[in-house]
Amino acid sequence: MATSVAPRVFKNFINGEWVESRSGKAYENRNPANTDELVGMFVSSTSEDVDAAVDAAKEAYKKWRLVPAPKRAEILFRAAELLVQRKEEYSKDMTREMGKVLAETRGDVQEAIDMTYYMAGEGRRLFGQTTPSELPNKFAMSVRQSIGVCGMITPWNFPMAIPSWKMTPALISGNTVVLKPAEDTPLSSYHLVQVLAEAGIPPGVVNIVSGDGPGAGAPLAASEDVPVVSFTGSTAVGRLIAQACAPTFKHCSLEMGGKNIIVVMDDANLDLAVDGAVWGGFGTTGQRCTAASRVAVHKSIYHEFVSRFVDRVKALRVGNGLDSATDMGPCINEQQLKTVMDYVEIGKNEGAKLLTGGNRLDSGIHLKGWFHAPTIFGDCSPQMRIAQEEIFGPVVSVIPIDSFEQGIEVANGVPYGLSASIYTRNVNQAFAATRDLYTGIVYVNAPTIGAETHLPFGGTKQTGNGHREAAIAAIDFFSEWKTIYIDYSDKLQRAQIDNN
Ligand code: NAD
Repeated sequence: MATSVAPRVFKNFINGEWVESRSGKAYENRNPANTDELVGMFVSSTSEDVDAAVDAAKEAYKKWRLVPAPKRAEILFRAAELLVQRKEEYSKDMTREMGKVLAETRGDVQEAIDMTYYMAGEGRRLFGQTTPSELPNKFAMSVRQSIGVCGMITPWNFPMAIPSWKMTPALISGNTVVLKPAEDTPLSSYHLVQVLAEAGIPPGVVNIVSGDGPGAGAPLAASEDVPVVSFTGSTAVGRLIAQACAPTFKHCSLEMGGKNIIVVMDDANLDLAVDGAVWGGFGTTGQRCTAASRVAVHKSIYHEFVSRFVDRVKALRVGNGLDSATDMGPCINEQQLKTVMDYVEIGKNEGAKLLTGGNRLDSGIHLKGWFHAPTIFGDCSPQMRIAQEEIFGPVVSVIPIDSFEQGIEVANGVPYGLSASIYTRNVNQAFAATRDLYTGIVYVNAPTIGAETHLPFGGTKQTGNGHREAAIAAIDFFSEWKTIYIDYSDKLQRAQIDNN
């Protein structure tokens, strides 16, 4: 007897209601560790759906911007409480759609909780400045003002945390939101929208439209009624977003690719550095924007470090992230796996030394997923493509260096600038590194990953365009300064003229 049950179709959330796409089409969201498992169907939105969501957000903005920020904060606070209650359920769903191990998806949901509480707290703290005027009987101050509809386009590797980094500062600042989540991981973003809806967010203030980049992301970035666009994803797509924003000078925040590095000096605590390289390089299957895909090691300890690093990485257990025995999950999809395999060939052809891994895993427990063995290349030169380009998978390039100065030069010698780390017990070197590494984030004696929500997050060069996420920096992006002068002298007072 047939027992098949139709898969659940997740709809768009527009103006407070879950609605079909005008396209009438839906696409499959499958588990990358087991492609037989259908996580759900998600609607394929078109520009008409995006327009409907933007219209709803534009209308809702008229009232939402006037809601006192502490009241907006109460809704965020309730949403955070709901996330706490559902953390385990949402983490498991995230592992099913994204593949990373449960400990990490719990971390992703926790980051959304932290960010939501943090931004709820900011509701009573949206401080401006009050300052003396240069003229008598005149008052001067600055206040933050909201901007309008914020379009958000997000990647699959942190499918709840990243949408929360964008939505909660936008909302507390009085803006409304249209979110286009990554096509590979829409469910986790839906869960975030669901808790906001349950927490009492008014209709139209938060909207979500699923679909692919060209079909749903591009019309959102280009919409005339969207003055703010916040994007996280690849540098190539970020460039398109910047172009879409340029004609009308939209506020545009871009968080893009990385080629992060751990520098291990000759005086480093080697056990600690190896721990950091394993976690930084292979956590989240190397699919973190902050992943340590390069490790530069001082020549005097190079062989010892590499031998310990390779031993540890050979022991990593690759599998389904819901299995507590698993250390590392699959690549997100077939295309990403292919990219990884292509880079392995590139590395071999460039003359790098393959120390472990280098192959797809596709039998036994790996038969139905997009698995790749954790891979280390040794004896890399800093200019090799595997040491310059973002791979976004479980591949680490180890580069021998002669000195601290060379370590800094290698670290800075890539087109990206997100995160860098140094392992040393020399306090002078540690401080010099924090000064000279030209990245948005620097760690000392810790790997390149591990951002906290109350500090700015983002990168330099082709990683970002000067904005930062999280912390107060996010509120700076999602609000505008308005400077207010109140003259109570009852006469014309000319600044720079009448007081000189
Ligand atoms: P991606 O650029 O392929 O996609 C990101 C988002 O953009 C998705 O929602 C996608 O649908 C959308 N998109 C694609 N084409 C579009 C178009 N033409 N117009 C509008 N939207 C479009 O990136 P990805 O593969 O999802 O994520 C991996 C990348 O994200 C890596 O490069 C990684 O470094 C980067 N990333 C950066 C950060 C950071 O904070 N710097 C954080 C996480 C991920």
